[in-house]
Amino acid sequence: MSELKNKRIITVAPTGAWPTKENTPNVPIEPEEIAEEIYNCWKEGAAIAHIHVRNDEGKAAMEFSKFEKVVTLVRAMKDCDIIMNLTTSGGIGLKEDDRIKPFYELKPEMASYDCGTMNWQHVTVFENNPAFLERLGTLMQEVGVKPEVEVFDPGMIYNAQHYLKNGFLKAPLHFQFCMGVPGGISATTKNLVFMKSCMEEVAPGSTWSAFGVGARAMEILYATVAMGGHVRVGMEDNVLYKKGVIAESNMVFVARAKRIIEEFGLETATPNEARELLGLKK
Ligand code: ZN
Repeated sequence: MSELKNKRIITVAPTGAWPTKENTPNVPIEPEEIAEEIYNCWKEGAAIAHIHVRNDEGKAAMEFSKFEKVVTLVRAMKDCDIIMNLTTSGGIGLKEDDRIKPFYELKPEMASYDCGTMNWQHVTVFENNPAFLERLGTLMQEVGVKPEVEVFDPGMIYNAQHYLKNGFLKAPLHFQFCMGVPGGISATTKNLVFMKSCMEEVAPGSTWSAFGVGARAMEILYATVAMGGHVRVGMEDNVLYKKGVIAESNMVFVARAKRIIEEFGLETATPNEARELLGLKK
């Protein structure tokens, strides 16, 4: 095995909260579809699956039974050792208890931790209030789930510093820079450099990953690989493979990320290498 520092983790986010079958018939919505897509993405080189589910109407939801189904199906795939990372947001305006239950009961290796409140896409509030973030951090530690600290702007990185200082988060942190969401920081290389420098100031020794939504996705993907980060791809962030072309699956995004990583002279991390890089148990 070559050195761990040359390994890059690909996270796939196959479903997310927003794309519907009307936007793209290729987005996996049903638990069986999501589990199969995760398996196929793992085969293409994804080491982490960031998982959302939908309700029976296909809408964003934190329905426990759906998470349970996906997690059970993925765990039953004996040859597939992908790391599962469950969302704790699900969408907008969902109940705090419902946001907590899936990771608390199902104990995936990771779960998202959205480190602040924002005006979401200029239409609503994505609420992650201080009491909720304290509770989330405490409960994740209680059940041994590693937080993926999702930050949509630099202020959220400094929020993470507060929760780290006060013991609600534990070093080393793993950040996900979510860029280009209206209401958050825009997806430019200049901003990515700034986000990384903020992270290094508040939590040196952290690992990090990034993605850009929409048209700037490729810029962030290439810049992240060049700057030493891990990457996230998938239909949660983009339904188009390139301008005007709907992606035929999540696997094509994973395959492209793997090609870029390898062309750069690096290698994709297996799930076990990702566990080592992120300090996960097992
Ligand atoms: Zn998500």
